[in-house]
Amino acid sequence: MPHASAIDGFEFARCGSKLSGSRPAGEFPRLRESLVSAQGVIQYALEGLPLVQGRPALRLQVSGDLELQCQRCLGRLAFRLQSEALLLLYADEQELAAVPVEAEGPERVVAGSEMPVLGLVEDEVLLAVPYAPRHEQCASREADAVSAPRRPFAGLRALIGGKR
Ligand SMILES: [Zn+2]
Repeated sequence: MPHASAIDGFEFARCGSKLSGSRPAGEFPRLRESLVSAQGVIQYALEGLPLVQGRPALRLQVSGDLELQCQRCLGRLAFRLQSEALLLLYADEQELAAVPVEAEGPERVVAGSEMPVLGLVEDEVLLAVPYAPRHEQCASREADAVSAPRRPFAGLRALIGGKR
């Protein structure tokens, strides 16, 4: 499949077009800042939908295995990216601004005739990656848990030793 770098949003939606591809995670400059290493590949699939909730729309799926940094122990944190978004298309900022903002539901974007595919992909990936990722249980914390019970005894022993 030839790689399309940009799509005409409304045209893509109306025709029900599809495209998919993959790119190394390290090639996304904004995502790269959140990664410990450039390991991993982002896979994406974009599909045009002529009518969703009265609007032309795009469905965008992204997936991949990334290495983030745990914000507690600063260690590597494997992250399985798997996200799907629905983007409702609007002609311009004015039309978009007239729609009430909802916290839930599809995202809304201004469609252009030259929408950069990898830009859309990167936006979606950044939304899906946790802002402050953490291990459920950090390795260093486990070490703490193992050594912690010994500390009171160590202190006691020193106290006893001091009395003698
Ligand atoms: Zn951690």
